[in-house]
Amino acid sequence: MILFDFGYERASSAQDAVARLARLGGDGRLLAGGTDLVPSMRSELAMPATLISLKDLAPEAPRLDADGSIRIDALTRLADLERANLIRERLPMLALAARAVGGNQIREMGTLGGNLCQETRCLYLNQRHDYQFAAPCFKRGGECCYPFPRNKPEVCWSVHMSDIAPALVALDASVEILGVNGTRRAAIEELYSGSGLRPLNLDYAELVRAVTIPPLPARWGWGFHKSSVRGGLEFGMAVCAVSMRVAAGGETCAEARIALGAVRERPVRAPEAEDLLAGAAPDDARLALAAAAAAAEANPLPHHGFTKRHLTDNLKVYLRRTLEQALERARGKERPC
Ligand SMILES: Cc1cc2nc3c(=O)[nH]c(=O)nc-3n(C[C@H](O)[C@H](O)[C@H](O)COP(=O)(O)OP(=O)(O)OC[C@H]3O[C@@H](n4cnc5c(N)ncnc54)[C@H](O)[C@@H]3O)c2cc1C
Ligand code: SF4
Repeated sequence: MILFDFGYERASSAQDAVARLARLGGDGRLLAGGTDLVPSMRSELAMPATLISLKDLAPEAPRLDADGSIRIDALTRLADLERANLIRERLPMLALAARAVGGNQIREMGTLGGNLCQETRCLYLNQRHDYQFAAPCFKRGGECCYPFPRNKPEVCWSVHMSDIAPALVALDASVEILGVNGTRRAAIEELYSGSGLRPLNLDYAELVRAVTIPPLPARWGWGFHKSSVRGGLEFGMAVCAVSMRVAAGGETCAEARIALGAVRERPVRAPEAEDLLAGAAPDDARLALAAAAAAAEANPLPHHGFTKRHLTDNLKVYLRRTLEQALERARGKERPC
């Protein structure tokens, strides 16, 4: 499909990008790697009047701060995130999540900020233009929802497919957001609205500047798994990310953070499942119980041909295994990525 006409500007700094967005009053859109936005523009799901390119802005290298937290520039390319020694050594879950995204070309172009701010997806929406249904759905400003015909106009059950967002939720990360009035900080979970129609809690003139991951405690471990049909080069069927801390001696779980991706309009936490683990002896039965509770809590949306039943069963199996991985690592039994 030939692209429609649009304006193109190049920002000279993050502040300049925000000023340009503000001037355009909602008609502008940031262009980072373009791997999500350009295909959306080709199929006219996004039709910004002007693109503000971030191409001239060089990202800072990931940085270890004095308090042990790690700051990652949102413009960092996913391939650089995957390769950065600091990330591989200190945050291997994040390196693995970056490696799980798409294929080489996507990771060489795609950025961390673009990954977190990507559009939600739906089989009925992300069609080649000539295959799209004649009448637009709610998300495209129309009056129907094809897969969920009983939905009201304010409800769109398109799914957030970022592989990296669940890993960052499990790592308790925060985002630095730059706007015309300066910088604000929010927990990564607060970046997402939970609405498929407008998935981000970002003003039209705001930009994600960086992500910060707090220092990791002692006796801590992680687990990550992305299910997909081919095992690579494609969006996830369901993504599990876990961080777990065990008490001294390793017999009980002190704390767990469970995050699931590609199941709802936003990455989701599973607080009831986390409570089942906190203070408990995490034997096989308890891990299976927690995985089943998390699958029920997430209440996965059927998407891309996967039924709710299939996704629920998938989460029960792979989340249990992901919890096992995290537990072994927390107990000091390192597992290969
Ligand atoms: C074939 C294919 C396979 C893919 N597979 C996966 C996959 O497996 N997993 C996955 O997670 N993603 C996947 N993607 C989606 C996407 O390519 C990646 O998520 C990528 O990281 C997006 O980054 P980008 O820099 O290219 O974003 P862009 O396309 O430049 O931007 C995406 C959106 O984010 C906004 N944006 C960009 N940067 C910022 C910022 N700093 N602050 C605020 N808003 C910003 C843009 O305005 C735009 O709305 C795939 C895409 C394709 C085409
Ligand atoms: S779920 Fe959302 S994107 Fe999909 S058809 Fe319904 S309104 Fe459109």
